[in-house]
Amino acid sequence: MKFPFEDLHYLKARGDGSKRPAEAWGGYGTPLAENDKVYSHGDVEKFPRESWLLNGIRDREHMSHKLLVFDLDIHKAPDNFDPGRVGVPEDTPVVRSQNGGFHVYFVVNTPETGQESDFRTVDELPFGIDVRGEYVKHHVVAPADIPGVESNYEIVNDETIKHYFDPAEAAERITLDGEPALIHDSGYSGAGGYERDEIDPPADLPKCYAAGLSLRKEAPDDENLNTHKVNVLTGMLGLAAGYSVDDVVTHFVEDYYPGGPDDADRERTTYHVEDIAERLDNRYSPPAVSTLKEYGILPKDESCTCGLPGHTQENMAKSDYYNAGLEGVARAEGYGDPFEDNLAMLKTCLKVREETGLADAKPPYSALQAVADHCGLNMEDREEGILGKSSYKVARRIFDDLAPGDL
Ligand SMILES: [Zn+2]
Repeated sequence: MKFPFEDLHYLKARGDGSKRPAEAWGGYGTPLAENDKVYSHGDVEKFPRESWLLNGIRDREHMSHKLLVFDLDIHKAPDNFDPGRVGVPEDTPVVRSQNGGFHVYFVVNTPETGQESDFRTVDELPFGIDVRGEYVKHHVVAPADIPGVESNYEIVNDETIKHYFDPAEAAERITLDGEPALIHDSGYSGAGGYERDEIDPPADLPKCYAAGLSLRKEAPDDENLNTHKVNVLTGMLGLAAGYSVDDVVTHFVEDYYPGGPDDADRERTTYHVEDIAERLDNRYSPPAVSTLKEYGILPKDESCTCGLPGHTQENMAKSDYYNAGLEGVARAEGYGDPFEDNLAMLKTCLKVREETGLADAKPPYSALQAVADHCGLNMEDREEGILGKSSYKVARRIFDDLAPGDL
């Protein structure tokens, strides 16, 4: 079973389909892992055939993973409603409840919690969606597929749980006629509240990344600014530009740390940046300029031309490859403009690697797009140039094995 039942936190339920805990367990004020009345799956197996509730997911050290479950009361829709109009994702678990509703499971990685009232369904949706899980300090009934659990709920889509940084991204995965049916619009953590006046990026960093770092450092006291999201987006920008996890951590805890330098926690920051790196390789695209404006990183009238997808292609980024003078190499070799032509970028990078030994450096995204094109790899979104999880990895492996003469 893919459903990660061994990683989840359990509460004893009253039984007979009750959604209420059987024990006074103290609530969400203390971390779930430290609560005696919150059980692990190992505990569940010691009391087989009881009914259980799920409310959280075990965390890695220094992370902030919270379970977020959408409970679709689709059985409450009028008889003439076609349930086929509702879309639920296939890449995350779906559980059918005893009365015909559906639980769709997500994990959000955020230190904040939210409220059920931060979510609303679109007007056209003829049934309600309850929000559950630790993120909103609530629980759901555990499905019977979990070893040792008695329940009227069953897993109908057995998957690992999809992770998001932002609850809004999870909410949008529930659709009606292909459009988002659930909207997350808490005034605080939603996008679009904060606007910065001007930025003055140093010349040796891509503008978008510099803008994120400087906003992080400034840390304006503004309730519309989502600091967590600024850090996540900034980390993505640095990694996507080709900086290593170590480089980004150094930027975060040294030059661009918002408080006194002695307060910076390098270990904790490393965990977060590693997590972002993993996501970026697996299922996230680097944020587009529009997203950066939405979250206040770039002023509304500014753009970025660093060459990431969604950023116009010009030479602003400075990873190891970008530092190697790509334009000069391309000119000398007659490859064409690497910032206009992905294949020229690929050839140039291969040449630079051969000559300067940048074996471990992360290649520019556009070079991997060229690999994908050259080898006919599937892309998640060809129009936007987004490689997606598996193609990114394959393209990177091919890139590592390519020599300039192979093209
Ligand atoms: Zn950029």
